[in-house]
Amino acid sequence: MEFGGETPMPVFFPLGIGRAGGTVRMADQLQDRAVEHVAELFGAALPACPGHRHPLSARLVDGNALWECPADRDHHREPIVVTDWAAALPRLFAPQRWDWGGIDARFSTVPPDPDAVTNVHLVGRVGDRVVICRDGTDHWFLPGGTREPDESTEDCAAREMLEEAGARIVGPLRALGAHHAVTDRPRPYRPHQPHPEFAWLWCVADVVLDSTPTNPPDGEQVVEVRACPPAEAAALLNPSADWYGELLDLAQLL
Ligand SMILES: [Zn+2]
Repeated sequence: MEFGGETPMPVFFPLGIGRAGGTVRMADQLQDRAVEHVAELFGAALPACPGHRHPLSARLVDGNALWECPADRDHHREPIVVTDWAAALPRLFAPQRWDWGGIDARFSTVPPDPDAVTNVHLVGRVGDRVVICRDGTDHWFLPGGTREPDESTEDCAAREMLEEAGARIVGPLRALGAHHAVTDRPRPYRPHQPHPEFAWLWCVADVVLDSTPTNPPDGEQVVEVRACPPAEAAALLNPSADWYGELLDLAQLL
């Protein structure tokens, strides 16, 4: 890495840091090096935190490389690398209308406000395979469901994985993104949920299939669990929505 024609500066990457972790490390060190030059030229360090006097900090948040306000993470956050996922994955990013809930939704890779998350769904990976579930009506779906009151997104993901797939999460839970949704129904689906705006969170994690679905009476009744290659999973999930294949692509790309 070179800056301002000076001596190249080495950047060190620990083994296994991953793509997002490496991005954060690179951004942080580039910022450290650049801050003194930029501050001299413009009188402020970059990237600027809107409305604050400090610059943004490079952070790894749920597997995403983000610039965040160092004083208040809810004040401002943005992706470090602006990848045009919307162009690469047009079906996933297309506006959705979910008539069953009077819902308009849009997918984004920016993590939602945790308090806004009503549902958590998971791309569970067994090696290079993806776990999908079939219910009694021959409908295939990714494990996941409604978050209980005061339940963390991590606990919700683990519970739904066990209930619907008989699987355990064995690696870090990483956010792929969320459908940011607004409903035209007068009331939330469950009284504890935010309304009318909320978010459906999509995550990816390594799992182990070492049990069978517990099928609690108030949940979906799963009759088959399969770990299959992403293309096969996408084909089985597709009848319900055409964007699942791209969601699985994103899980492999991130
Ligand atoms: Zn700030």
